[in-house]
Amino acid sequence: MKKGKLLVFSAPSGSGKTTIVRHLLAQKELNLEFSISATSRAKRGEEIEGKDYYFLDTKSFKNKIKNDDFLEWEEVYRDNFYGTLKSEIERIWALGKNVIFDIDVSGGLRIKRNYPEKTLAIFVKPPSIDELKIRLKKRKTESEDKINMRVAKASAELATAPLFDEIVVNEILDDALTEAYNLVDTFINQNDNCE
Ligand code: 5GP
Repeated sequence: MKKGKLLVFSAPSGSGKTTIVRHLLAQKELNLEFSISATSRAKRGEEIEGKDYYFLDTKSFKNKIKNDDFLEWEEVYRDNFYGTLKSEIERIWALGKNVIFDIDVSGGLRIKRNYPEKTLAIFVKPPSIDELKIRLKKRKTESEDKINMRVAKASAELATAPLFDEIVVNEILDDALTEAYNLVDTFINQNDNCE
């Protein structure tokens, strides 16, 4: 089985990384498949089980941690666990595809550490913390409290940006999409003699 490349997109919540990831997934020539994470958080809005996430209760999530089923996992927010199942990467590699991740910064860096040669880790940066707050409010999916929690976390996350292979500033969306496309296209077409 030829194992595809790993494209990690990490960013503070509300930076627009999900929009970028969706755009890249629509570019068929990149041969990307989305890594569906497992989470213990509640379903939001129109989300679909097995498409956006594998929704698990906290007990099942913790059992999978015990069984060493995760490549990486994090308690991203209090009592909200998120993780990448090893079986998910295997599923995508078996399809002959490259894996694209939309995960938090610690998880992203862990994947890079596990597969240093196969992974391109991209940090998506919002133009500013104020702009991030405006975007989260516009999304209207979370309470004021949850928004404040996400904004507080964002400052710490921004400090990790230099640890990533590349930083894309999402100020003008079209420019960010083009930049992300070019980075991914170049990386997946590079010869690799790594496993
Ligand atoms: P949300 O609740 O907005 O869907 O996601 C919250 C945060 O969890 C986002 O930063 C998202 O990228 C991150 N996340 C989603 N899946 C995973 C995962 O599998 N592992 C880790 N470490 N973070 C994840």
